[in-house]
Amino acid sequence: MKLTSLMLRRCVTWPLCNDSCCSFCLKRGLWGSHMHDTFPAMEDPSPRVLLYILRRDARLSDNPIFHAASATLNLNTSTKPVHTSDTHIRNDSFLPDQDFPSFTHLLPVYIFPSNQVEVSGFLPDPAMESPYPKAKSRIAGFWRTGNHRAKFMAEGAWDLKEKLRGLGCGSDLQIRVGKTGEVVENILQWYTEEKNAGRSIVDVAGIWMTADEGQEEKDDEADVQRIASEREVAFKAWADEKYYIDNRDLPLKDIADLPNIYTTYRKSLEPLRSRPRPSIPAPIQLPPSPPQVPPQQHPFEIPTSREGLVKALLKPLEDDPSHGLPCPPQWPPETKSSHPFLGGETAAHERLRHLISDGALSTYKETRNGMIGIDYSTKLSGFLAQGHITARQMHWAMTDFEEGRGPGAQIPDYGKGENNGTAGVRFELLWRDYMHLCARKFGNRMFHLDGIQDSSKTRKSGDVEPDDSHHEQRSPHKRWKGVHQSGDLGDTPERTREVFCRFRSGRTGIGLIDAANREVFLTGYTSNRARQNVASFLSNSSHLGIDWRVGAEWYEYLLIDYDMASNWGNWQYVAGVGNDPRQGRVFNPVKQALDYDPQGEYIKAWVPELRQLPLMKSVAMNKQEIDEQKLMGLYQAWRLGDWDKDRLGLRGVEWVESPLIKIQFSVSRGRGRGGSEGRGRGRAWRGRNRGNERGKTRLEVEKQIANVQIADGTGG
Ligand SMILES: Cc1cc2nc3c(=O)[nH]c(=O)nc-3n(C[C@H](O)[C@H](O)[C@H](O)COP(=O)(O)OP(=O)(O)OC[C@H]3O[C@@H](n4cnc5c(N)ncnc54)[C@H](O)[C@@H]3O)c2cc1C
Repeated sequence: MKLTSLMLRRCVTWPLCNDSCCSFCLKRGLWGSHMHDTFPAMEDPSPRVLLYILRRDARLSDNPIFHAASATLNLNTSTKPVHTSDTHIRNDSFLPDQDFPSFTHLLPVYIFPSNQVEVSGFLPDPAMESPYPKAKSRIAGFWRTGNHRAKFMAEGAWDLKEKLRGLGCGSDLQIRVGKTGEVVENILQWYTEEKNAGRSIVDVAGIWMTADEGQEEKDDEADVQRIASEREVAFKAWADEKYYIDNRDLPLKDIADLPNIYTTYRKSLEPLRSRPRPSIPAPIQLPPSPPQVPPQQHPFEIPTSREGLVKALLKPLEDDPSHGLPCPPQWPPETKSSHPFLGGETAAHERLRHLISDGALSTYKETRNGMIGIDYSTKLSGFLAQGHITARQMHWAMTDFEEGRGPGAQIPDYGKGENNGTAGVRFELLWRDYMHLCARKFGNRMFHLDGIQDSSKTRKSGDVEPDDSHHEQRSPHKRWKGVHQSGDLGDTPERTREVFCRFRSGRTGIGLIDAANREVFLTGYTSNRARQNVASFLSNSSHLGIDWRVGAEWYEYLLIDYDMASNWGNWQYVAGVGNDPRQGRVFNPVKQALDYDPQGEYIKAWVPELRQLPLMKSVAMNKQEIDEQKLMGLYQAWRLGDWDKDRLGLRGVEWVESPLIKIQFSVSRGRGRGGSEGRGRGRAWRGRNRGNERGKTRLEVEKQIANVQIADGTGG
């Protein structure tokens, strides 16, 4: 709904002041006298706009800024809880202490930042040039945001737009593209010019945004703060509240005190279940959008539909459909994505409700290492990364279930307190918090070749760190093959690029790695188990030994759930330059496949060339068992016999005949199932009998690499 100037003359807070708590009146000592329709003696006050810049906080519920914007107008008397526990009283009482600017209108603006998301698709004419450099990664030159995440982000922004409009109080979300500071500058400039020209009476009263951890985000925030200060507009960066434990409740005086080992950090916070703050309900009313809204800055144009928005974001990416790969993976017939979800707050809460009411969270501990299907893990990471949902909302939904409130009454664990599954999810959510605190502690070292290992570079809060993250630095202990320069390992950059290209195409010849790389390319998602194997395979010197940062950049491009801290932190961890207390471990992707894909279903789903390989053999009348030899051929196709290669049409195929790596691995008869699966993050397997799904086999690594431990299980 648009406000007309006639309406404004009646009351600037129209249509909100329909009762006795109108803040417009309150702030002017007019409480009780407000018959706004008969307010003629009052001089026209200028509409005062609060600008809210949104980035990774595209949600209405559990959003402190929307909450505050609503509450300062005293409109939050009735709110819409998302979960029963949302009705818990929020105890941080942040509102009365704050010196908020007085405002009558709220202008929420969601920005697609041009350094992270390619925005040239918003140019109305393909002949026009974008004023911004292409949003490509520093080392390998990939698009920084690929098609999967771009679409997910657009869906999230659009969902919020519809939610705001749906409040029916004149609220709306504006979508803009460009450099964050420039977008803000343009908005302020436009209002100033309109006012100077007598076309507007709008004043900008303040700018709010949510702080974020990455250096780029901090730079954007600093830009906005500077612009606000130059124009004497109040600025506030709100704490990012999408994490499990609120920043204000951290047991750290200084970020430098963050332990470098997750377990130490976790133990300082247990029991985790008692830690999160209550979440904040969604406001049911907000100040309306201002009567005049500045347009998108030239030369870009913002589409007026969700489909148009997605199209504009995908256009530049689709102009390069192979993503630089001569043989990009093709969607295998009948295989389904494990992540078919639309982005946005609505979809996030639907997903959470489904997980609770289907009991998937209760069984999480047993299923989380799965690789096929939708419900083996929460698949909430993408929503969390974009701020469509918060970790504490997940916590409170689980708490409701544990305490017998809300959905899930038919599940046996309902009302029986915390169970292994819900505790497991909380454990992982704390991992996410921890990664983001590591990003705060180590700053740009998250992007360094030698990782966060050099503790002398740890910064104190407030320290400014020079941005030398793009320099290829040599770790004193480790060396990698570079895609631009030799790593002095007898490699050439040309050959490394060729190998990396085969890796990205899912054509290494190692079944688990190829399946995972094809899956993530086609869907934007792959399981934690698969990610660990892929990262280890790329970065470890006993496998490809390639600069792990190009792997992290490739994931940044592909992942729906890309999150700077979680992505770079996990890559470092697996590459052995992060905060893994037991460095030097390697995932053996054949053993991992045997443990986590014992029937080869995952590999067959994503590598259809191997589907027709029969894995069962008859051992007695009516008795079949897995043919170990064929299974090994599925895990590494070079091990297939000529007969199978011919039958599958794989003779002469490069990844079959010339795999990038041959892993010597055999299965021999042994004493049966032994050892427990273990829950640690990277439990080392030392060749002892640890059993597997099928049991009755003893696994042996045939001297794969001297002095290398083979990682078996992980957390994360
Ligand atoms: C090389 C590599 C790169 C990764 N990149 C990302 C990334 O960019 N973004 C991202 O969110 N996760 C990343 N992860 C962590 C993890 O793989 C994903 O969070 C998880 O697979 C997402 O699926 P889910 O939501 O079903 O997770 P669940 O198993 O359901 O876990 C619940 C939530 O806990 C958090 N979580 C779980 N494991 C981790 C972990 N190891 N580190 C941090 N948070 C975790 C996530 O927010 C997740 O949504 C990466 C892991 C590896 C090994």
